[in-house]
Amino acid sequence: MRVAADSDRCVGAGQCVLTAPDVFDQDEDGLVVLLTDTVATEADAKLVREAEHLCPAAALRVTSGTDDAEGQPGA
Ligand code: SF4
Repeated sequence: MRVAADSDRCVGAGQCVLTAPDVFDQDEDGLVVLLTDTVATEADAKLVREAEHLCPAAALRVTSGTDDAEGQPGA
């Protein structure tokens, strides 16, 4: 599973960091920072899907593949 975050959409609500702190962080402005773009474990995958649903800005995209070309935001 791969995850992408669009910092242009992010409003710094922090839901992703609270939900999946192993995958998401926030920079000094509160905008989302990806700690990894590949989610290896099913436990993290569940949290990342939850974060995607919780994000108020729809800034997160989760795709099932491992190919860079698949499911990029805006694609
Ligand atoms: S939940 Fe969404 S809006 Fe909030 S910090 Fe994460 S990506 Fe940004």
